[in-house]
Amino acid sequence: MLAIHSITKTYEAKPVLSDITLRVNRGESLGVIGESGSGKSTLAKIVLGLTSVDKGEVIFQGVHLHDLKGKSLKNFRRHVQIVFQDPTSSLNPKLPVWKSVIEPLENYPEVVPSFLKEVRHDKKQMAGMLFNQVGLSQTLIEKFPHQLSGGQKQRIAIARAISLQPALLICDEPTSSLDVSVQAQILNLLKQLKQELGMSIIFISHDLAAVQFMCEEIAVLKDGELLETFPTEEIFSVKRHDYTKKLVEMAL
Ligand code: ADP
Ligand code: MG
Repeated sequence: MLAIHSITKTYEAKPVLSDITLRVNRGESLGVIGESGSGKSTLAKIVLGLTSVDKGEVIFQGVHLHDLKGKSLKNFRRHVQIVFQDPTSSLNPKLPVWKSVIEPLENYPEVVPSFLKEVRHDKKQMAGMLFNQVGLSQTLIEKFPHQLSGGQKQRIAIARAISLQPALLICDEPTSSLDVSVQAQILNLLKQLKQELGMSIIFISHDLAAVQFMCEEIAVLKDGELLETFPTEEIFSVKRHDYTKKLVEMAL
């Protein structure tokens, strides 16, 4: 569904990603694990088409990202959505949260997600359905971001990100800013939504346990280099890269 082919990116002559090749299958999750500064968020920005590359390409559903313009670019943007570490950054502080949730739907009036078919004509009802989908109480619909907890805000950000029924959801450290007790709930929600909506996920994290829980496949990044990619069930294999073994040991 998504292929990243031989991508290289430098910032001010400093290599940030070197020759990265990855693929994401339909309906599957790819975990990208690596320490801070390893290039994870840069990779996310490249896949979203927000940052240029020096070399290599991103191919989404058979089409080169750099060839997209106009309608096909808009269609791509609909199908690739992101959830950031800090949910506050994706919510407008001046809007009641239900308005932030349906904003993408307002930008794409022609898109009718299957789970919103019956209510597509009514903005409040769409927001209500999306709140349901992410396990939020309807009583929160009129609240403003500052009135909600971190976990609730992240659910709002997730509702917004899935509102257009994207084919691919990029989650960039989606639980790193949350209390430990809330992290598992958000991971469960993401896993459940992936199943229900048949989405692919790129799950970026420095938390190996979270990546293991979420993903069929794991890619290990270090200093902008892809050390290895392997099926999650082979994480304890003797074949693993020494660095991966170190990560596994630290997580035990
Ligand atoms: P991660 O998400 O794994 O922490 P990032 O992709 O954010 O890593 O950053 C990788 C490297 O690229 C870091 O050394 C960072 O300082 C650098 N970097 C990221 N964005 C920029 C930018 N816009 N300009 C210059 N350097 C950047
Ligand atoms: Mg990052």
